[in-house]
Amino acid sequence: MEFRHALVTGGGGFLGSHLVKRLLDGGAHVTVLDNWSTGRIENLASVSGNSDLSIMTGDVSDRLPDVDADIVFNMACPASPPDYQADPIGTMRTCVLGTINVMEWSKARGARIVHASTSEIYGDPLHHPQREEHWGNVNPIGPRACYDEGKRAAEAVIFDYKRLYKTDARVMRIFNTYGPAMRAEDGRVVSNFIVQALSGHPLTIYGDGSQTRSFCYVDDLIAGISALGEIDKQIDMPVNIGNPSEFTIKELALTVIRQVGSSSTINYSDLPIDDPVRRQPDITLAKSLLGWNPTTPLEVGLADTIRYFRDQQAIA
Ligand code: NAD
Ligand code: UDP
Repeated sequence: MEFRHALVTGGGGFLGSHLVKRLLDGGAHVTVLDNWSTGRIENLASVSGNSDLSIMTGDVSDRLPDVDADIVFNMACPASPPDYQADPIGTMRTCVLGTINVMEWSKARGARIVHASTSEIYGDPLHHPQREEHWGNVNPIGPRACYDEGKRAAEAVIFDYKRLYKTDARVMRIFNTYGPAMRAEDGRVVSNFIVQALSGHPLTIYGDGSQTRSFCYVDDLIAGISALGEIDKQIDMPVNIGNPSEFTIKELALTVIRQVGSSSTINYSDLPIDDPVRRQPDITLAKSLLGWNPTTPLEVGLADTIRYFRDQQAIA
């Protein structure tokens, strides 16, 4: 499918802005809807003069713009734990009311939906690696619940619309992704460690650093999102999109220090409540369905991301 006109909610954020650029490169008209809670207009600076880009300010949990788009990428939602916990009720509204609005908007237009879900669906996973069939292990009343349960409720909403109205919706469960356009103060581990290493401050490891994550470079992720949007087929399962290469947080810290050439030390502090112990996607489904496979090794993606933050510091 070639998109004539794509609506991207959260198009000013880290992932959304990369996606917008890719859609414009592909010849689509793109409308961005963003409330700018964690997004930045600067993320779209390089395409701001493009006549195919329309940028609108608004909240996905209120209403969607009356534009004639044939696909919506629902990226709106803070993704960093400090961001989504800063306004937990707002996060839940975005996840649940925002997704209902997206589904109603799409139903009225017969538009396709590609929804950004998350590996947090699996919570502190009971199975490893995580496959789409796993139901997850989430604390429903903890500080991460506004996001985890919000995203789980959003998936429930989407699959009910699919059952009731045969809506053409695709759900991607995104695993930890990093790259240029992250905010320095975003609070996620890759941006924190790089900014700390560049400024010579200690790297802040929460817990003993033995917890794992699997890090996907943003260009690989955007290729996966595009493939999921383009395929002409009903997709009846969520699809894991991430890089299965798994690292401990301590390995990540040491790699960042080495690649930056930094003299930073490491400070250890308490592990946040409900912090998942390990996380690794099984991407068998994405590979077979989309022919997609992430190809960027951590050290290559980190080098690009370090260059980005160096340039940002030089500008500041
Ligand atoms: P981000 O915080 O950089 O971007 C989110 C964007 O959504 C921002 O531009 C923000 O201003 C906007 N937004 C938030 N609430 C909104 C609302 N109610 N109405 C309109 N706009 C709103 O986050 P990101 O890393 O780009 O994540 C994008 C999406 O991908 C999110 O849905 C997130 O849950 C999902 N995701 C990301 C990752 C990751 O590693 N980056 C992992 C799993 C899932
Ligand atoms: N983390 C850390 N130091 C930081 C930021 C995060 O040790 O400065 C840890 C965090 O506790 C978690 C992992 O790194 O175990 C990934 O955290 P992030 O917030 O990036 O993503 P998520 O927890 O949502 O996977």
